[in-house]
Order: sequence, then C-alpha cells, then structure tokens
Amino acid sequence: MYRQKNYSRYPRSKSYGSSRNSSSSRTNRSFDPRSVIGKIQQTTSTTADVYEIQNKFSDFVLNTKLSENITSHGYTKPTPIQDRAIPKILSGLDVVGLANTGTGKTAAFLIPLINKVCLNRGSRVLIITPTRELASQISKEFKSFSAGLGINFTTCIGGLSIRHQINELDRNPHFVIGTPGRLLDLFERKKVDFGRFDSIVLDEVDRMLDMGFINDINKIISKFPKERQSLFFAATLDEKGKGVMRRFVNNPTMISVKITETRDNIKQDIVEIKGRHKPTVLRDLLREKDVSKALIFMKTKRSANDLLQNLSHNGFRVAVMHGNKSQNQRQKALDMFRQGGVDVLIATDVAARGLDINDISHVVNYDLPESYEVYIHRIGRTGRGNKNGTAITLVS
Ligand code: AMP
Repeated sequence: MYRQKNYSRYPRSKSYGSSRNSSSSRTNRSFDPRSVIGKIQQTTSTTADVYEIQNKFSDFVLNTKLSENITSHGYTKPTPIQDRAIPKILSGLDVVGLANTGTGKTAAFLIPLINKVCLNRGSRVLIITPTRELASQISKEFKSFSAGLGINFTTCIGGLSIRHQINELDRNPHFVIGTPGRLLDLFERKKVDFGRFDSIVLDEVDRMLDMGFINDINKIISKFPKERQSLFFAATLDEKGKGVMRRFVNNPTMISVKITETRDNIKQDIVEIKGRHKPTVLRDLLREKDVSKALIFMKTKRSANDLLQNLSHNGFRVAVMHGNKSQNQRQKALDMFRQGGVDVLIATDVAARGLDINDISHVVNYDLPESYEVYIHRIGRTGRGNKNGTAITLVS
C-alpha cells in the first residue's frame, strides 16, 4: 500500500537547501504514481492471478530433447500465457499475446517454434524485438531450450559487428533474432531475405512504436511472405498498435495475461524530496539495510552520468547503462550488476527495457516515469519470480 516514508530519517540539510532535479526543467510529460498507488493493488484478480493452469509441460506434444531442456531450465509448470499460447502456436495458429515481461511470454513463443523447427528443418523463424538487450535475452533463453537439437540462430542487433552477423546469416540459421534497424540494414544489403521466414514474432510491439519504429516495422511487414505464422506480443494496444496488428496477423487467437499491474509482491513507496538535496536523499535510501540490489531510473543520459559520479565518489559500487554507451559497455554493466560486482545500476528507460534480473531488491524512480505504462514497466524489474521487491518513487 501507499506508505509515506519516515522523513525524519532524511533530515533536511542546510547546505543542500535547494532541489537539484536536473530534469525538472524539461517540458517532457511525466507520470506521478501517487495517483495510482493503492488503486493498482486493489485490482488484484485479473487473468494471471485467478487463471487456473490447464496443462503440464508433458501434456504438450514436444520433441523429447526439448522437453528435457525445459525441465533442466527449471520450469516445472507453464505460466498462464504459456498454458494458453503454446497449444495454439503448436497447431499453427496466429496469436496475439497481450502480455508484458514477467509473464513468461518468451518461452511461450520459443518452445513451440523450436518444436516446429524440430519437425521441419526447412522452417525459418524471425523474432523482432525493440531493443538489443531484449534480443540478447531471448537469444540466451533460446540457447538453453535448443541445446543439443542442432538448431542454430543468429542475433542481429546494432552496436555489434555487422560483418560477423553477415557471416552467420550466410549459414542460413533457423532462427534470426534482431532489432528493426539492424535487420533493415541487413535487408538492404541483401543479407537477410524476409520472404524466407515462415514464422515471425513481433515482440513488445508497443515499445517498438514508442521508440519510433513504426515505419521500419511497416516496411519489414510488407516484405513478409503471405503464407506465414504470425505471433504478436505487446503489453498494451493503442490505435497505432492495432494498425500494426491488423496488417500482421490473420484471424488470430487473442490471449491477454498481465501480471505486473496486479502483483502484490511489489511494495510501492513514495519519498517526497521537500526541497532537500536529491542525491543525498537517494544515498540515504540506498544505505538502508534491506537495499541489496537497486536499479535507478533516470530520464536523461547526462543526469545518469552525473549520478554515477556522485554515487561512486560516495563509495557506492555502481554502474550505468544508457543509449550513449556501446553495446559492450551496456552488457558489461549488466553483467556486473547481475553477478554482484556492483550493487547499484543507473539506467534510462530505453536501456532497461525488458531487463530480467531475478534479485533486484529495489527499483528507484529518481526521475518520474513519463507514463503509467513506463511506471508499470519500471517497477516490474523488481519482485521477479516469486520474490518480493520495493519500488520507490522520488517526488518533489
Ligand atoms: P518473460 O516474461 O519471458 O520475460 O519471463 C519472465 C521470467 O519468468 C524469466 O525470468 C523466465 O525465466 C521466468 N519464467 C518463464 N516461464 C517460466 C516457467 N514456466 N516457470 C518458471 N519461470 C518461468
């Protein structure tokens, strides 16, 4: 529930009287979660919470090795989206999944598509995601599900050598996982032929549209073959998203499973700055003993860099991830955070999209998110699996 902090723990310091919110002068829209905290948690029983799982993984007719891989991946029973989507995808239908990260949507499409390639080695699958990080995460999951099956893949994302990706595409991989910009670049160089894929996934379409990929997506869709299986995933569907969906899928099964909005294992908190020095408030907060791994969201790359300096000068083990960093730098920051080399990761929204790290104890909205959807996405980075998490939003 909405719980005000005990402000006496953050005494106002005379020397830091004025707020130094570096992004408050920007005119970008922002979303203040005080308007929904409390209300979000009253809507607890939507699909994922009340949904009764119908199937076990063993009920799906899957390649034996693939079934073994699912077990060794630690999955004992399907999540609601997997329960509903896997049989439909296995039977060749188009699916629209309204589901956000955290629902298990990646395995919901990877498992049946890997099985499809097991049955027909000539089948080719294209998976398009908004960000490099998401493409890398899907590739990682793909590797563990496809181990020992002789199915190969390549990841086509910006920030990494295109030459290497071209060499891999020359080997005609079964799966291509990539981002729209790099895929179009490769298409224009005639290194990837969208007409050759019989199964296509558009993942996190709403994010792609938020990021301005509408023209790229429409262009890519226009090159797809008519005969195909199309899978469309988004957390939310506005008019633009519906337009893309109509062009892409054919008589789809609609499946809606959302959990982050309803999970009550994420405690939502507000800390009012009340004129104090914002970095000091943050540092006090990070020193609290239950904060073991914190992800801090910032609006701009510049303020993220400033905060990195501030925290590291004050003895915090901290890394930063934003759009000005190279793919390798971002990956390195992510790995350090994941493996415990740093306890604090500062990120902008684009860099942190789809980020899946199991043990983030706290998400801190240092700058307000720009919309309700962004807020929900940010707080969903904590409380993963069945763990508890806390999301704290700093407000002026
Ligand atoms: P996703 O929605 O695909 O980003 O997945 C969110 C998280 O749920 C990831 O950490 C997955 O490894 C995990 N996950 C997905 N499916 C299952 C399952 N059937 N059982 C347990 N964990 C799962």
